[in-house]
Amino acid sequence: MNTFKLLNTFKVSSQTNSILASRKKPYQNPFQNFKNLTGIDMRATAIESIETIIVDLPTIRPHKLAMHTMQNQTLVIIRVRCADGIEGIGESTTIGGLAYGNESPDSIKTNIDTHFAPLLLGQDSGNVNAAMLRLERSIRGNTFAKSGIESALLDAQGKRLGLPVSELLGGRVRDALSVAWTLASGDTAKDIAEAEQMLDLRRHRIFKLKIGAGEVNRDLAHVIAIKKALGDRASVRVDVNQAWDEAVALRACRILGSNGIDLIEQPISRNNRAGMVRLNTVSPAPIMADESIECVEDAFNLAREGAASVFALKIAKNGGPRAVLRTAAIAEAAGIGLYGGTMLEGGIGTLASAHAFVTLNTLGWDTELFGPLLLTEDILSEPLVYRDFQLHVPQTPGLGLSLDEERLAFFRRDKVSRTTSTAVHRA
Ligand SMILES: [Mg+2]
Repeated sequence: MNTFKLLNTFKVSSQTNSILASRKKPYQNPFQNFKNLTGIDMRATAIESIETIIVDLPTIRPHKLAMHTMQNQTLVIIRVRCADGIEGIGESTTIGGLAYGNESPDSIKTNIDTHFAPLLLGQDSGNVNAAMLRLERSIRGNTFAKSGIESALLDAQGKRLGLPVSELLGGRVRDALSVAWTLASGDTAKDIAEAEQMLDLRRHRIFKLKIGAGEVNRDLAHVIAIKKALGDRASVRVDVNQAWDEAVALRACRILGSNGIDLIEQPISRNNRAGMVRLNTVSPAPIMADESIECVEDAFNLAREGAASVFALKIAKNGGPRAVLRTAAIAEAAGIGLYGGTMLEGGIGTLASAHAFVTLNTLGWDTELFGPLLLTEDILSEPLVYRDFQLHVPQTPGLGLSLDEERLAFFRRDKVSRTTSTAVHRA
């Protein structure tokens, strides 16, 4: 270690305080108690810098949702660098700017750079609970940004300890996850051909149709025609993305359920929770809550009121892989089914989700972790492994991925006029 590095390490270590310690604590010799409870020297695990990078990647086709048509996907990549040279990588991704939720890629980047980083720099990256609690105390909401940070901290700690993130989360009970595919061209014949191709390739046998943007009878005819063509070879489900009102939904859910549709996702507004309860009582196909869950507390209220039979689990809407397991625990206690959802993240967010989902006792409705398959370009050195209808989750340390620096440099939005986006701990 050269002199500069030694000095720098000393500076970081002398300012590394316990995250939970009061500001007004009595003077302590900074050379005492460097070890945290995992026995690792806190000088080594201190967070030195946090970098956020917006990346725009092309998609294989336009992806139509009730509220937005995606022509490409924007990811926010988060790099948390620690004093021991370990780097944790996370991702915060949403759909269509502000079309889906309260956070956009731009707000995620700004908020992490401006508000998250000052709270985290110099802190112990190895204590994920304490780091996330520190954020929780000062920052309301912003679950997408929190999820990316939590993923990066878990990735760093996994690399440090030589364990996959799933093992940090208590241990996996499966190694692979069945993955649904979304048919979203809007064209019935094209969607049937795409589904047949996916069955032939043994990539997907669960299909989700995005409806709600068109006239309801035409949407229903589209869905029923696809189910008829695929028969028992596939599970067909719909996602309405809140587009119907309750009266339309009451009729449509009956028709869908009696035509073999297995699951109806978020048919009406998240704000009409009483309507969700009524629909869930009469619909012949189970109702799944997606937009209705914007935090763990939403999940508790939905479970208490009986507003859904299935929950879509999304790390971005709960605040990370640990946070989403709290929602899963509420569902399990209430007898509600589980489905591993996606915000159409790239490989990093998808693996962060997958490491959480492989730890679940039950995952009766499988997952939709197909985000990376929608992209024509990758920024990872190795693509994720999709085989025999399943995503196979790496057993290597951390999230089990590495960045392709050249491709990341090419696709980053600020590559022309690069402005600094790295918050650095100044010791
Ligand atoms: Mg949805």
